[in-house]
Amino acid sequence: MSIQENLHKIKASLPANVTLIAVTKTHPVEKLMEVYSAGHKIFGENKVQELCDKQEVLPKDIEWHLIGHLQSNKVKYIAPFVALIHSVDSFKLLAEIDKQAKKNNRIIDCLLQIFIASEETKFGLDFKEAEQLLSGTEIQALQNIRIVGLMGMASNTSDTAQVKKEFHSLKTFFESQKNQKSSNVQLSLLSMGMSSDYELAIEEGSNMVRVGSAIFGAR
Ligand SMILES: *Cc1c(COP(=O)(O)O)cnc(C)c1O
Repeated sequence: MSIQENLHKIKASLPANVTLIAVTKTHPVEKLMEVYSAGHKIFGENKVQELCDKQEVLPKDIEWHLIGHLQSNKVKYIAPFVALIHSVDSFKLLAEIDKQAKKNNRIIDCLLQIFIASEETKFGLDFKEAEQLLSGTEIQALQNIRIVGLMGMASNTSDTAQVKKEFHSLKTFFESQKNQKSSNVQLSLLSMGMSSDYELAIEEGSNMVRVGSAIFGAR
């Protein structure tokens, strides 16, 4: 199937409350334009350099999401335009995003990345660390960021019960954190699910899926 056919099929299958992020990493801008021409304008990249290079040459009405690990010293490159950062995993990073957002006269929306997989390799906070960050007083001083939700990646396994369990644990935590008092913490987005597991993620309460290879083919 073509990229546009893949896109239409996936979009048609998603419940109305679920936002699709087309994950464009490693693909050339010509392929991104196929998705754009089909009317989809929300793209996700996992590397800062690639995100900036593509943003520069593509239409300016695209909403760019950073979904991969972010180093503090690179925040400045994406701060002028990024729509949502999915991968915040420390207070230090959040403070730097706040600083760069302020320089650009913006408020940057962020998700906290939560570690839910049984593997060692994935980035993220555990539930306790995330709870402390969300409920702490330090966060209240950051006036140029908003925490609008959580992101998680399940284990890379064919064991669907395990994957569902991991997504379920994040949904439960998400619900438990919805009434945080800081005005810049307003959790509404739950970013979980990729090509191999977005259907399971939606069953478990995801409302934002990050899909690459099911649209563009294997990388
Ligand atoms: C690459 C990537 C995805 C998409 O992966 P696919 O398997 O191609 O759908 C989703 N989330 C993150 C954080 C990624 O790096």
